[in-house]
Amino acid sequence: MYKIVSIPGDGIGPEVVAGAVAVMQQLSKKHGFEIQIEEHPFGGASYDLHGEMLTEATLEACRNCDAVLLGAVGGPKWENLPHEHKPEAALLKIRKELGLFANLRPAKVYDALIDASSLKADVVRGTDFVVFRELTGGIYFGQPRGFDATKGWNTMVYEGYEVERIARLAFEAARQRKGRVMSIDKANVLEVSQFWRNVVIEVHKDFADVELSHMYVDNAAMQIVRNPKQFDVIVTGNLFGDILSDIAGMITGSLGMLPSASIGTKHALYEPIHGSAPDIAGQNKANPIATIASVAMMFEHSFGRPDIAREIEQAIEATLAAGLRTADIANPGDATVSTTAMTEAIVKNLSA
Ligand code: NAD
Repeated sequence: MYKIVSIPGDGIGPEVVAGAVAVMQQLSKKHGFEIQIEEHPFGGASYDLHGEMLTEATLEACRNCDAVLLGAVGGPKWENLPHEHKPEAALLKIRKELGLFANLRPAKVYDALIDASSLKADVVRGTDFVVFRELTGGIYFGQPRGFDATKGWNTMVYEGYEVERIARLAFEAARQRKGRVMSIDKANVLEVSQFWRNVVIEVHKDFADVELSHMYVDNAAMQIVRNPKQFDVIVTGNLFGDILSDIAGMITGSLGMLPSASIGTKHALYEPIHGSAPDIAGQNKANPIATIASVAMMFEHSFGRPDIAREIEQAIEATLAAGLRTADIANPGDATVSTTAMTEAIVKNLSA
């Protein structure tokens, strides 16, 4: 039995999470495993009910399940709350409380959407890599930090264990993929990066079957747009990963297509990378694919079922190949389908 906490959140969150839940129910029916889905409020929806974005009850449910599925949080209604009550603060808190130290963002180009990329079709065709971004350390958390009237300062610091645990995840993932890890740093300038590199080289001794290379972050930013096919697994720190995973995502086309996973030692949370899209919320227009593809990542990383992950991805591919497009991925003049119609088509392709 898989025990999943679903937190739809705000805006289009409930619409796209409903799509992902329909996919999980279909998989449960098809394969005969039991899925228990428990829904909890988070973000603005929780604030309106309980006066806080993240309640202890929601957090406790997340601690006691096999995986968390999150839609999106935030919106104009809650934008002017004090910083500590903002949805962003709740997102940081849930990641920290669950110890989610690795953020995985795949960059996979679907053949049917090749023209949606800002790069030439020949450059992106066949792109399929994943960025492992360290999420709970580095310059976003290092002390001392601050600013005064004349200067501002932050500290980039990595402990050995922080580098080691994400490097291990990256090497393990590479074993299930094309067997190549690229560690990205700025070791020519930053001591913390030289340390990062040393630790990655040390961890690599346990993964001799995986190929390890290193690249400076400035070159990596260029190489991702020049020749994205060269990458398989990228592992990098928090700041570099923040920037590179956005570049990597965007070369594949639309925000509505991009899933993510945040993984820790005990817990994992899966979510689309897009926000709550208040401009289209409640209109049955949102693309549910990013959230459905996040369920594929859940089966792969939390449940050890890459076969089911591939099944979900193939159902998405078949649906796109049949020409179905939500508005965000349609060419001008194309017919578009609703969130529910896209979901139903993917569910149908799953049972085929
Ligand atoms: P956004 O991702 O919500 O939307 C950006 C644009 O992309 C909008 O035009 C939107 O309609 C479109 N879009 C996004 N997802 C889509 C989908 N699945 N299908 C079709 N179109 C889609 O970013 P934003 O507008 O900057 O932020 C809106 C709100 O979401 C803000 O309150 C922000 O704080 C919040 N946000 C939350 C998260 C999160 O929950 N992880 C992430 C980013 C932003």
